[in-house]
Amino acid sequence: MSYGFANFLTNYGVYLFIFFGINFGLSFIAAAMAKTKGYSYGGFLCLGMFTAFWIAIIVAASRTPKSGSKYLMQKEMERQFRQRNDQYAQPNVLYCSGCGAQIASEMAFCPSCGIKGPASPTA
Ligand SMILES: [Zn+2]
Repeated sequence: MSYGFANFLTNYGVYLFIFFGINFGLSFIAAAMAKTKGYSYGGFLCLGMFTAFWIAIIVAASRTPKSGSKYLMQKEMERQFRQRNDQYAQPNVLYCSGCGAQIASEMAFCPSCGIKGPASPTA
């Protein structure tokens, strides 16, 4: 009887240890997600450990990122990066009003004649 109980503890103790170990490890993912959105790292780590890691992940994923958070800064950087890439992929070509040379829209003056001011979309 006592042997059986000890055996039970040994077997299920290992399972419990693995279960809580995995839950503990995955709770860090939820905590990291929460932190990038401007929420408490420790708070979400505790939430994951005391409830379940997936609950903390769902809660962290459904939070609205706080303004000034790393998450929003990353999104903004990605947006700017994409915008820049779009410009290179499809350059907005304009024509110089002075000499008719093709110039990129963001250029302040024409590289071939040096004229300043607005370039026209047609030559
Ligand atoms: Zn020009």
